[in-house]
Amino acid sequence: MKKTIENIFARPASPGMVGDGFRVYQYFPGARSFFPQKISPFLMLDFNAEIDFSPSDKVRGVGVHPHKGFETVTIAYKGSVAHADSTGNSGVIHPGDVQWMTAGSGILHKEHHEEAFSKKGGPFEMVQLWVNLPKKFKQTPAKYQAITDGDMGRAELAGNGGHVRVIAGDFNGVKGPAFTFTPINMFDIRLNKSGNLTTSIPASHNTAILVVNGDVEVNGLHAPEHSFVLFRNEGEEVAIKANENSVLLLLSGEPIKEPVASYGPFVMNTQEELLEAIQEFNTGKFGTLE
Ligand code: MN
Repeated sequence: MKKTIENIFARPASPGMVGDGFRVYQYFPGARSFFPQKISPFLMLDFNAEIDFSPSDKVRGVGVHPHKGFETVTIAYKGSVAHADSTGNSGVIHPGDVQWMTAGSGILHKEHHEEAFSKKGGPFEMVQLWVNLPKKFKQTPAKYQAITDGDMGRAELAGNGGHVRVIAGDFNGVKGPAFTFTPINMFDIRLNKSGNLTTSIPASHNTAILVVNGDVEVNGLHAPEHSFVLFRNEGEEVAIKANENSVLLLLSGEPIKEPVASYGPFVMNTQEELLEAIQEFNTGKFGTLE
């Protein structure tokens, strides 16, 4: 049975800045207060739709800040992001790469345009997702998965229709490398004009598609560039046909049915745990990072 579409949302009206390096449209939660139950385990989607950054000797980005209780997933489409964190990890997320950072019990990190990109300037396009952790894993040690293009599962589509890069989960038998704490599918779908695909995702998963570029039909409905397709928990089959060369991000996951208490970069289950998290941050328990 075809998965039922709940709604196809247009891009939010106006972007906001994260530091001075990321001009993002926040698809959720933003003003869409109904999303938490329908989109769990995903907590937030910031989409830096393509924008040209002018060459700059000052590296743009966001300085040292904490996270606790969830994971951040950064997908670079155009331009490169440099990062460093209090566990000692640092690196560069190049176009086609993904950084899956588990904040878990607490981390400090910073995110900037990579220096060479900054000096040269040019098109920049990326997504950052926040993925919740269930209560039993909120205190897991902070860690980090660097997932490069070569690490990903790759499914070629019939008839030169394009390909799917599997970041997490399983696309028609092709598995993704990301370790996830709850069942999640994350697919970077690249369709050529007139290309198409069909896949099956459990009805129990909350499921959505962001049209990063291009123009597609999803289960017979038109989803234009930058739209966001949200499915109901009915049916399994997702059929996509591309009207233009298109780049899509498909997200699905088993919802975490636990209370969410969040304050800025901390996402816990109760107010008490939030206060503890803030206390831990203020007393240096997340380590140090310059
Ligand atoms: Mn961050």
